[in-house]
Amino acid sequence: MTYKEAYEKGKNMIVSEEAGSEALLLLEYLMNTERNDLFIHPDRILDETKEKEYFDLIERRQKGEPVQYITGRTFFYGLEFVCNRSVLIPRFDTEILVERIIKTAPFGLKLLDLCTGSGCIALAVKDQRKDLTVVGSDISKEALDTAKVNREKLNLDAEFIQSDLFENINEKFDIIVSNPPYIERKVIEGLEEQVKDFEPRSALDGGVDGLDFYRRIIKEAPLHFVNDGRVMFEIGYDQKEGVSLLLEENGYKEINTIKDLNGLDRVVTAVYER
Ligand code: GLN
Repeated sequence: MTYKEAYEKGKNMIVSEEAGSEALLLLEYLMNTERNDLFIHPDRILDETKEKEYFDLIERRQKGEPVQYITGRTFFYGLEFVCNRSVLIPRFDTEILVERIIKTAPFGLKLLDLCTGSGCIALAVKDQRKDLTVVGSDISKEALDTAKVNREKLNLDAEFIQSDLFENINEKFDIIVSNPPYIERKVIEGLEEQVKDFEPRSALDGGVDGLDFYRRIIKEAPLHFVNDGRVMFEIGYDQKEGVSLLLEENGYKEINTIKDLNGLDRVVTAVYER
């Protein structure tokens, strides 16, 4: 079978809006090729072994497994990250938070990324802002192992600490950021299969109202600031009111929301003055 035939057949087997690009990503992954190879060499032959392997990958995708877990990699903020089932797949939406951190963090400060998962926020920030000291933490050892692999591969300097939010965090920071689990518990069962059946529950479940992590972080962060501090969170599209209220109740000022490219509330920032 040729590349092109395999790709066309694979594409038709995947039920997804992204079927074309997913079938291509799986082919590239298997053949270790670049994006253009399929188009330049559509008649190149997949031998029988490779053909079988390709359709095994397609079958995994058909059963709902996200492409990023099958290939073990994804791109975030222009960097390649390793990902696996111990971490949430880095989302394009989260680049909004990263961009805001990169653009607004004052020179030379210390930043903590809670619920770091794959380390995508911490490492993308560090990549662009070498002046910042970056620490990431997560409750899951497996997630941190993945974050550390990413740190080595990207050759970036960041510290990763296993901790249930602030529990094992002894240093103090100027900026505390997080994209914590924020899905309302009862909503999880209604999510797409590739999310609810494959991504870690612990990376999705934000408690009954989805705000559990914001509640804890907002309350405890003031104890972990060097001086005046700021918090920056990714939020769910309907969580602006809830998170802003928690910030107000805990004495934060300058509460701002940033929308994503779809016009949905995506990031909340605030300042805490001592
Ligand atoms: N901070 C990580 C990310 O943005 C993990 C988020 C999570 O597990 N909820 O991808």
